[in-house]
Amino acid sequence: MFCEYKATRRGRKFVKVARDFPSSQICSDCGFRDGPKPLHIREWTCDNCNTRHDRDWNAGRNIKYEGRRMLAATAPSTPGPGARRPVTATVNACGAHVRPGNSPAARTTPTLVGRKQEPTRSG
Ligand SMILES: [Zn+2]
Repeated sequence: MFCEYKATRRGRKFVKVARDFPSSQICSDCGFRDGPKPLHIREWTCDNCNTRHDRDWNAGRNIKYEGRRMLAATAPSTPGPGARRPVTATVNACGAHVRPGNSPAARTTPTLVGRKQEPTRSG
């Protein structure tokens, strides 16, 4: 599983889409959900907009769009004073197992700045 590693290495955002996301059921052109298709169906035509789709290519586009939609939903649209946290959401188009806590990405721990000094008591 190198998707996340490759993405972070290139400074890309990595977003996981739901494993049950119906990427092969949705028309990537108009968004019409056409329903599940048997695996041997490699090409299909959208009932709504009549666009001819390659199954895998269409699914890839849908996953890309879904990832972007998720990013847009998590990222603050107007950066305010409280929006300084980096977005840590990630897109996974691999469809393989995801093991949390096994990420090679280094975690940065916030350093304590401006620590209050205890007043020294005398007496
Ligand atoms: Zn369509």
